[in-house]
Amino acid sequence: MKKIAVLTSGGDAPGMNAAVRAVVRKGIYEGLEVAAVYNGYQGLIEGKIVPMELGSVGDIIHRGGTMLRSARCAAFETEAGRVKALEQLKKHEIDGVIVIGGDGSFRGAYELTKLGIPCVGVPATIDNDINGTKFTIGFDTALNTVIDAIDKIRDTATSHERTFIVEVMGRDAGDLALWAGIAGGAETILIPEEKSDVDDIVERLESGTGRGKKHSIIIVAEGIMSGNELATMLKDKANIDTHVSVLGHIQRGGSPSARDRVIASQFGARAVEAIKENHSGVAIGMQNHKVIDYDLQSVFENSEQLDLSMYELSKQLSI
Ligand code: ADP
Repeated sequence: MKKIAVLTSGGDAPGMNAAVRAVVRKGIYEGLEVAAVYNGYQGLIEGKIVPMELGSVGDIIHRGGTMLRSARCAAFETEAGRVKALEQLKKHEIDGVIVIGGDGSFRGAYELTKLGIPCVGVPATIDNDINGTKFTIGFDTALNTVIDAIDKIRDTATSHERTFIVEVMGRDAGDLALWAGIAGGAETILIPEEKSDVDDIVERLESGTGRGKKHSIIIVAEGIMSGNELATMLKDKANIDTHVSVLGHIQRGGSPSARDRVIASQFGARAVEAIKENHSGVAIGMQNHKVIDYDLQSVFENSEQLDLSMYELSKQLSI
């Protein structure tokens, strides 16, 4: 292993830059040559590959998004596309690739590994939905962005004695909604992994009102239904008026939190060690506060269960 490349792919997440910096700096520290691929797998196919130096990643640790840009690339999902990427890697004499992204990007890395190019996946997505790791880069920052929004919404909810629905990101995974709901003291949390009954939500809201509660906050992950759909259901079912706030893409941006910068640094550095040790086809992750590497394939085969104790806790604390 003499020369490695790093790329960011799929949905961007705060902390990707810190991971890129860690890969470049640790790679050079380990005596490797490091190149960067711009625009994810699309850039790999097009040969947008440039050599990196220590200074190339200066002044990015605190920036959101990704300096390498990200892209979604349908061509890479075809054998022909991946063969083109392989040709570019050969041309640039690259022996291994570190892919920073979500589980879609990991599938791409897995396919590339099968073509004989060792790849290592570094998990970065605000959804925190990659099997085998407790945390992904970007989740903590997004969570803090949501909490900040909930706190502000709470001020107006209290002042005007209103019920607010806050829609957060999470197509298949409710981690962001669940953690934000607990940290933000929400009355009700709706997540894709758990069925929610409108009657039950109405009952909880009405029992709160019965106890003299003047305002409520409901967090809904976009994957179960939209905030506006829920508002309509509550109006139709029980004539409950709500205000809807859709947080949208602000959740993906912003300066990464200290925690995301640190795990991005740890994951990026471990990825370099793994690739240098020829641990090909692995993902980097965190379990029991330790940085680990594990089989990339297991990311697609296992499906992580939601931490039900967290969901239970949220219900117990919002009676
Ligand atoms: P994320 O990495 O955030 O989950 P996507 O699911 O959009 O984002 O995947 C990012 C990119 O990874 C895709 O645009 C595609 O280039 C590549 N990819 C996804 N699935 C596969 C697959 N099965 N085989 C090869 N490449 C894939």
